[in-house]
Amino acid sequence: MNMHKTLSLCLPLLFCSQLALADWVDDSVKAAEAHTIKLRQHIHQYPELGNMEFKTSELIQKELKSYGIEVRKGYAKTGVIGVLKGSKPGPVMALRADMDALPIQETAAVPFASKQKGIYQGKETYVMHACGHDAHTAMLLGAAKVLAANKDKIAGTVVFVFQPAEEGGADIDNFSQGDQIGSRKMLADGALKNPQPEVIFGMHVMAGMPSGNIFYKDGAILNSADHLRIQVDGHQVHGSMPWAGRDPIYASAQMINNLQSLVSRKADLTKGMGVVSIGSIQGGTTGNVIPNQVNMVGTIRSNSEDVRQGILKDLPKILEHNAAANDVKVKVEIA
Ligand SMILES: [Zn+2]
Repeated sequence: MNMHKTLSLCLPLLFCSQLALADWVDDSVKAAEAHTIKLRQHIHQYPELGNMEFKTSELIQKELKSYGIEVRKGYAKTGVIGVLKGSKPGPVMALRADMDALPIQETAAVPFASKQKGIYQGKETYVMHACGHDAHTAMLLGAAKVLAANKDKIAGTVVFVFQPAEEGGADIDNFSQGDQIGSRKMLADGALKNPQPEVIFGMHVMAGMPSGNIFYKDGAILNSADHLRIQVDGHQVHGSMPWAGRDPIYASAQMINNLQSLVSRKADLTKGMGVVSIGSIQGGTTGNVIPNQVNMVGTIRSNSEDVRQGILKDLPKILEHNAAANDVKVKVEIA
């Protein structure tokens, strides 16, 4: 991570009324760089799962306070808001970072490698910042430190948004309670009400991209992500006489195939792209028994609200008609 260059490139985007980048940005970023890297390594070493970011939240609050930034908490359990009023009048803008890690074991041989464990959906697991949210949190703290140190030069208010559970919650069913976590819950809890930002900036690090550069484009750059859960109920029977039961495995095979037509035959691809993937399928225990039930989990991605809405509308219809044709029942959850 090259904090110096990243922030240098970042700030003109934020203060787009300024034509040239002021020297104070370079100087302050240089001064904050070592501390920011230390923060990133600490957060990396002690990762916490979604909706469980208690220590990360405490660290963020402590840091923001030490920069002289007003700290607000109580948003989506562990979410933190920092408010920095510049010395000059101007608009309200927000910068956002995510805080949570993933249920993955770290194998990298770095001195700050994670050895942490946590409970994910009731099961103990290793925890790792494998998506870069450690860097995001540290970078936003770095930006907060730089801006707070120069608030006499800032026209307007900067809101720093530290969002938990971007990867979903470790402790709740994300399908039925997805509005109880993360960004949606922060908004419901009033995180962006007073002051209300006119614009918000977020970013994501990406392995493989050259360090020190920002990549951007017009329109959506990150796709929407809707989680998909499908339960197919049939009737168990010996595999030698399928006519006496109702086969959820055969029906599921048809469903997986036909789901692909949502993008290839129905979506208006001049408006954007869409992807429907089934990433998990579970059903049955042995080769000669047709089981009662098959469970599938998948994801829906799109960079166009039109394409997304079309998929969300037609997907249950395709599954229900496939179920009806095979005399099985299907339950579809999208969250
Ligand atoms: Zn991520």
